[in-house]
Amino acid sequence: MADFPTSLLDFQRRFADDAACATWLGKARWPSGFRCPACAHEKGWPHGGKRFTYECANCGKQTSVTAGTIMHGSKLPLTVWFWAVYLMATHSNGVSALQLQKQLALGSYKSAWLLCAKLRRAMCNPNRNPLSGLVEVDETEIPLRSKDDPLTGGGGRSAQGKMLVAGAVEIGHGAPGRIRLAAIRNFSAASLHGFVGAHVEKGATIKTDGWAAYPGVPDVVHEPHVVGSMAAHVLLPWTHRVFSNLKTWALGVYHGLRRPHLQSYLDEFVFRFNRRRSRHAAFSSLLSIALAAKPITYNMLIEPEPAA
Ligand SMILES: [Zn+2]
Repeated sequence: MADFPTSLLDFQRRFADDAACATWLGKARWPSGFRCPACAHEKGWPHGGKRFTYECANCGKQTSVTAGTIMHGSKLPLTVWFWAVYLMATHSNGVSALQLQKQLALGSYKSAWLLCAKLRRAMCNPNRNPLSGLVEVDETEIPLRSKDDPLTGGGGRSAQGKMLVAGAVEIGHGAPGRIRLAAIRNFSAASLHGFVGAHVEKGATIKTDGWAAYPGVPDVVHEPHVVGSMAAHVLLPWTHRVFSNLKTWALGVYHGLRRPHLQSYLDEFVFRFNRRRSRHAAFSSLLSIALAAKPITYNMLIEPEPAA
């Protein structure tokens, strides 16, 4: 049996109630048995009064299966968390907070939004490996959803309201491999070199359109392809396809992206793209990152993210 659900019915059978979800979380957190986070003692027992909580046999500290994780202190049932993870991880386009609120019958839009925002923060694995081999690198502008953007105000999409995004696609094996996307401040050498340094392995080869900011990127081999009469989408077909899919997705699911949360939406797109051939396994990978992630408060989520 796969260690992740392979269909809706399979999901429903495995995670029928909160106890089943808690068992999964307990095994994922402590694969070789309970271990006290306070004193590292390896003996504990289920707490009599509190659900899904262990009490350390040594120091007496009580630890819930969700303590210290992204689900820490949540009032939502575990089944709701699991459904949200399942829907967000396996749906080919993802789900908006409004769709999630309706699908899971959540009381308020705010709790649906929080749930989505927390899970989106778990879509970027802090331990992921940089892209390697031959890597296309390019940059683009995407229109801003300006209705609630403090910089532009007003309704609709503004012509000036553009957000800048750098992208990289592994193309070493004929078909595209993994991708990375990052919000950047401008198209300067500092921004683009920073992007390549953060996401491309040392010694890899980057293929660019010859934009003046790329030469001199440290630690990688650079193959500039100067755009003359040839269109950029011919030279860098995969970054162009990724950018185009990103823009379609942003409009379709979110009616455009907002500047303060751009990076987490890019992370969501990258998470799904990189798991496009293993959508069901993406469920356990998202849950595992969520378990390892530190608790996030509402205030942390509404704070604008800095662009690199
Ligand atoms: Zn202890």
